[in-house]
Amino acid sequence: MISVRSEREIDLLREANQIVAKVHDALQAMVAPGITTAELDAVAEDIILSSDAKPAFKGYHGFPASTCISVDEEIVHGIPGNRKLQSGEIVSIDVGVAYRGYYGDAAVSWPCGEIDAERQALLEATDMALSEAIKAAAAGNVLQDIGRAVELVCLPKGYGIVRDFVGHGIGTAMHEEPQIPNYDDGRKGPRLKAGMVFAIEPMINLGTEKFRVLEDDWTAVTLDGKPSAHFEHSVVVREGGGEILSGSKVHSWGQRKAS
Ligand code: MG
Repeated sequence: MISVRSEREIDLLREANQIVAKVHDALQAMVAPGITTAELDAVAEDIILSSDAKPAFKGYHGFPASTCISVDEEIVHGIPGNRKLQSGEIVSIDVGVAYRGYYGDAAVSWPCGEIDAERQALLEATDMALSEAIKAAAAGNVLQDIGRAVELVCLPKGYGIVRDFVGHGIGTAMHEEPQIPNYDDGRKGPRLKAGMVFAIEPMINLGTEKFRVLEDDWTAVTLDGKPSAHFEHSVVVREGGGEILSGSKVHSWGQRKAS
């Protein structure tokens, strides 16, 4: 059963997601060689708590931090710690909050210092994949259209589309139905209705889609050690396409126009 949210609920989801956007803006300004991922996480937690929200990831199945920060070959679920960022790396930051009973969730990958051309292209393609997937989150489409939109951008470039982690419905819980694969799983899936709210989150690898999980039981890293990117927005299904709830006023990820 996929929830259809009232405009009042969508307003609350937007408020929750705007706290997430505020965190991303603050962390982007701090991403630089030498900073540790734990330092970024501490700032995120401060902002979330001072916004009268709770960090949704902290304690989730025992996750120990307020954000997931995944560096370069790390795909998702990186635990903030004493890893120092280096110039040339991709830094993927995922933030979730609970606010007045509603959840916000968004992720973005930033370049640290100067990155090479293949990493830059990966960031642009993953952002474009999110943008196209958001357009596909239109009332009357089917769920399959979202995964197909990601594939259309990423498969021609030979990138690995991560299959074992997927997007999800979001509302009064962080993870609600449906699961939203970033590929065409061969099933149309449910028809999309205006007012459904989804966290859409392509995770795209420069090389193989295969991954392994580190001994910390959380961090997913690419099997070939090549970099990965992750962009996510919480989006409400509307006529004509998705409306982004987690959009930043400073940064416009997920809103890339096809060139
Ligand atoms: Mg998510």
